[in-house]
Amino acid sequence: MSNKYDLVVGLEIHAELSTNSKIYCSCKNEFGLEVNSVCCPVCTGMPGTLPTLNKKVVEYAIKMGLATNCKINQISKQDRKNYFYPDLPKAYQISQSDIPLCENGYLDILLENSKTKRIGITRIHIEEDAGKLLKTDKFDVTLIDFNRCGVPLIEIVSEPDIRSIEEAKAYLETIKSYLTYLNISDAKMQEGSIRCDVNVSVKPKSEKNLGTRCEMKNVNTFSGALKAIEYEYQRQIDILESGGTIKQETRKWDEKSSKTIAIRSKENAQDYRYFPEPDLRNISVDDKTIQKIFSEIPEMPNHKAIRYINNFKLPQADAKLIANHIQRATLFEKTYELNKNLDVKMIANWILTTISEQVNKTSKNYLEVITPENLSKIISYIQNGHISTSSGKKIFKQIVSDNSKSIDQLIKDLGLEQISNADELENIVIKVLKENEKSINDYKNGKTNAFGYLVGQCMKATKGKGNPSIIKDTIKKHI
Ligand SMILES: [Zn+2]
Repeated sequence: MSNKYDLVVGLEIHAELSTNSKIYCSCKNEFGLEVNSVCCPVCTGMPGTLPTLNKKVVEYAIKMGLATNCKINQISKQDRKNYFYPDLPKAYQISQSDIPLCENGYLDILLENSKTKRIGITRIHIEEDAGKLLKTDKFDVTLIDFNRCGVPLIEIVSEPDIRSIEEAKAYLETIKSYLTYLNISDAKMQEGSIRCDVNVSVKPKSEKNLGTRCEMKNVNTFSGALKAIEYEYQRQIDILESGGTIKQETRKWDEKSSKTIAIRSKENAQDYRYFPEPDLRNISVDDKTIQKIFSEIPEMPNHKAIRYINNFKLPQADAKLIANHIQRATLFEKTYELNKNLDVKMIANWILTTISEQVNKTSKNYLEVITPENLSKIISYIQNGHISTSSGKKIFKQIVSDNSKSIDQLIKDLGLEQISNADELENIVIKVLKENEKSINDYKNGKTNAFGYLVGQCMKATKGKGNPSIIKDTIKKHI
């Protein structure tokens, strides 16, 4: 980052909501169905049809608004945003202009070294998605799929409070984890469920006023958004350094060339000729509804991560990885709830390595791979020396493929019980040491690997079942 210029970023995130039906008609809201199989006269904007607002869309948007500390407008308005685009047959999009459903909120993002930063949320409004243009090699034309027309969206607009790539990344990840935590969007970037418009400007550090911004529309990956910010930051600095001025324009992020490219001079709100949607009434929400939705909001991932760091002393990276994923967090917390003597760091390690690997291999989710009861038992047995870590992993593999047997039964069947009886181990150690006097001398003469050899011999004598830490201590006692 330049030490002469500040980076200033605001993000507008469009998230598709996972309601059963679309926003203004009863067409199914589902990704990946046959082209043009879920559309009707309403969502394709045929003359004479009337939209009916899906109540769930309002509820979902309010949920996100409350989770991000927004004020909920009890009366809000729906407006037509007029523009022509081939995948928008109505030539207007129903959105919200001057009175959105939610406004003036904020979100605390977690940065390096457990620092947090508050990012303002200007507004969250509801709107409908447009269709999709399909380019195909088969024909020399562009085809249109209207299935996406009328899929409900929320647009989450941030204040220009983001000052670095790290902050932009943390903000995007936090928004994504909020959407999945609240169960209002599948947030699958690969299916286009989240897209963002990235606003970037730069200003000399001494300057108070913000510079002229450029907007990159419809960036559909987080990595693309971050690269676009980085590129744009440098491009604008280069212009200012060579005495030029920044033109306000809409650009696009081109993944192939890793550049932003100008597409048009930036339109202003008045270019869209917003006017109140005449076919829909204002949206009115009462206190009771807001209270009910508020009561359904769980502890959010960023707050969870901070709690894990403070209460459990988990490293920040682990805390974030667990907290940002609702199933990981549920497994982590339930396992700990069952036995508060467990080593939390060990629970976290198991979830982030052994269990994650299994989740990635299968299509199962975390709680299907292992129950908190079983995980808690395996970890407590490892902790008290009843079984070794490698035996714990063997048992885990067994219960993933067949969970009909209990853990205790598996330990018996597989003969994995660890020998932790100190007297029993001491006898074995004494016997092994007698037979390996040369290694003892080697060790005493500074050959440190002789110690490992002795441990290995003892493990062999116990058929791998001896508790290694007790064996090590006992050897040290005797040589
Ligand atoms: Zn429809």
